[in-house]
Amino acid sequence: MTVLERLPSFGGAAVSTQAFQGIDARLSRYSYLVSLLPKQIIDDLELNISLAPRRYSSYTPIPGTSEGLLVDNQNAEATRESFEFLGAEEDFPAWRVFYSQTQQLAKELWPTVLSPLRKRSELKAASSNPAIWERFIESPVGDAIKKDFVNDWVRGVVYTDALIGTFSSNADETLNANRCFLYHVIGGGTGDWNVPIGGMGAVSGQLEKAALRYGATLISNAEVVGLSTSPEGATIRYRTNGQEHTLTASLVLANASRQELSALTGKNQEARNTRPAADRPYPYGSQVKVNLLLKRLPKLRDQNVSPEAAFGGTFHINESFKQLQSAYEVAMGGEIPDPTPCEIYCHSLTDPSILGSALRDSGAQTLTAFALHAPHSLVSELSEAEHDAMRLRLEAAVLKSLNSVLAERIEDLLMLDENGNTCIETKTTRDLEDALRLPGGNIFHEPLSWPFAEDDEPLETPAQRWGVATDDPRVLLCGASARRGGAVSGIGGHNGAMAAIEILRA
Ligand SMILES: Cc1cc2nc3c(=O)[nH]c(=O)nc-3n(C[C@H](O)[C@H](O)[C@H](O)COP(=O)(O)OP(=O)(O)OC[C@H]3O[C@@H](n4cnc5c(N)ncnc54)[C@H](O)[C@@H]3O)c2cc1C
Repeated sequence: MTVLERLPSFGGAAVSTQAFQGIDARLSRYSYLVSLLPKQIIDDLELNISLAPRRYSSYTPIPGTSEGLLVDNQNAEATRESFEFLGAEEDFPAWRVFYSQTQQLAKELWPTVLSPLRKRSELKAASSNPAIWERFIESPVGDAIKKDFVNDWVRGVVYTDALIGTFSSNADETLNANRCFLYHVIGGGTGDWNVPIGGMGAVSGQLEKAALRYGATLISNAEVVGLSTSPEGATIRYRTNGQEHTLTASLVLANASRQELSALTGKNQEARNTRPAADRPYPYGSQVKVNLLLKRLPKLRDQNVSPEAAFGGTFHINESFKQLQSAYEVAMGGEIPDPTPCEIYCHSLTDPSILGSALRDSGAQTLTAFALHAPHSLVSELSEAEHDAMRLRLEAAVLKSLNSVLAERIEDLLMLDENGNTCIETKTTRDLEDALRLPGGNIFHEPLSWPFAEDDEPLETPAQRWGVATDDPRVLLCGASARRGGAVSGIGGHNGAMAAIEILRA
């Protein structure tokens, strides 16, 4: 088995990087939390990975006030009081029922992800509660949220799980938001999102070690430039150190995107109109990621919550249900939403090991912001110089949004690198496309698919059954583009391997 990677190191969007010159901080530059990596894969591959649970699920400050909603996973009474303080007491019991329903769904769907695909009707018939199936899988999840909750902020917190990396309205008839929501609530059978100790590079680093342990040859700086197949096998052309090489294989497993795969096989590429339309899933990315290194945690306007609690979970900013919808509409019109809905997370609070000891002792903290509703169409057609200017505008919009809930300006807390530059980096969808070949910066490579097959879908070949088929029997998917892929999960890899074993044994 040979692994070819065009970048100097392995891991794709699951890496840790020393992002700021001369500063001993290894940030999870792109992906940062883990929920969908099954324990079975960790055990099978003997991965030495530590995933820390987060005590606080989320904190949502209300801009212009000194109030906020804190969801404490370990203290239901404190969470109830927080709902009450916000004037949302009736939403607390609704919240508990809502998440008991998603847990029910998780219990039924999660155990299927490392098995051949089941059919929709089969899983639906096996569901213990058809009403739960209906509201989360067959009707827009925004409708269920509107029905169950009254408070605009509570509704927004719940709906953000449907919008991470997904450009959808609050009433998304395409159900793309439902698929995104589903993968955010079924991981591990609980939907909990955990912190990878040592950063995301520790997770991909363990996978790299396991690959070497099991005898794989890993070649970095090796860009695949062509792929062809015949009844006898596959031929892969790759370039390394300016030289072209050829490999032959009986099967190819691809974790580059389906779009990249088409380019490699010389298939005609569709003309790429990146403008979104409400009646079909947006195929490209819709986010801006901003990584920051701070001298210390920022002060909050809300004196009732400690910064450690507020930043210990997902910190939602300007993500009320109404704000999300109006941001969607503004972005649809080609503008940057103001305020820009975003969420931030502080890795170093749960896991200081990503900071060097001097930095740690100084009180420095990392912060990562993930802004929603910034569709690729905002940057796709720009010249390089215009894109640079747009990146700065997007960054400023995220900082402005952040400042709307802080008691001090975030800019004043940024550390400086060894060249005197502020420790902040911003990645647009276009940056992700350039760096990682994510099509239009889609963090999942393409819109997510259901974790089951449609009733009329052919499941004849091993590749189809495992959800890793392409239109070429010698080429299988093994990454985010695979069914049930689209996260730091290893699920696509496991299922690609299972299909490959079946094919090679036949
Ligand atoms: C900003 C961001 C935040 C995210 N946050 C989370 C999160 O918190 N939790 C989570 O679970 N998931 C998250 N994700 C999603 C997750 O990172 C991806 O789903 C996951 O990395 C997919 O892994 P993969 O191996 O399929 O593909 P990728 O990580 O996309 O890796 C594909 C690799 O293929 C290489 N490649 C492409 N073309 C070629 C070629 N022609 N030749 C050789 N190599 C090639 C690329 O260089 C890249 O290294 C996030 C993603 C992004 C971008």
